[in-house]
Amino acid sequence: MTNFKEIVERVLSNYPKPKLELDFKSPYELLVGLVLSARCRDSLTNRITKDFFKKYPTPKEMSEASTEDINEMIASCSMHNTKAKNLKKIAEILCEKYSCEVPSSFEKLIALPGVADKTANMVLSFGFGIPAIGVDTHVLRVANRVGMSSSNKAKQVEEDIKKICPKDKWIAFYSGLILLGRYVCKAKSPMCGSCFLNDICPKRGLK
Ligand code: SF4
Repeated sequence: MTNFKEIVERVLSNYPKPKLELDFKSPYELLVGLVLSARCRDSLTNRITKDFFKKYPTPKEMSEASTEDINEMIASCSMHNTKAKNLKKIAEILCEKYSCEVPSSFEKLIALPGVADKTANMVLSFGFGIPAIGVDTHVLRVANRVGMSSSNKAKQVEEDIKKICPKDKWIAFYSGLILLGRYVCKAKSPMCGSCFLNDICPKRGLK
């Protein structure tokens, strides 16, 4: 039987500091970065947001910008037309309803255009330090391979991880899974031979 406690401990000791690879200094910057990062590498998102946040340092400036101007700033990003419309709308809602601040409520976050569970949970956890688990493609894949979940639904994977990992470790654990999935347990060619879980991982779906 797979020792999930050991898996959690090893992930935490290999990735001790919770971190995302997006650059952000506030919940607002994190929210914008996450919206932009859908199907866009974090490195490209970071290049875009560097200038973006100089021009739109808070939701107020973004709410006053035209969708066309926002679109121009993010043109190198995939799905930029949709993202520009969503960002403009998000900024307007933040300023109309929440005094130009990002709310620290899951329900309020997922009501924003272009924001689903993963983004809401990442904003809560990394923007506000509230325990939550953001299930992206890496977390979903690794959780299945190590046997923590057998679901391809992010919400179920989130619930399965919550049953195994202590709440005070959720943020560090899921951000560790993102890094493990991105650099070791890759989608096409997982590097099991050099993985720190090799001896205890059931490698579900790979055998
Ligand atoms: S041992 Fe292989 S399948 Fe298991 S987590 Fe590591 S890379 Fe992924």
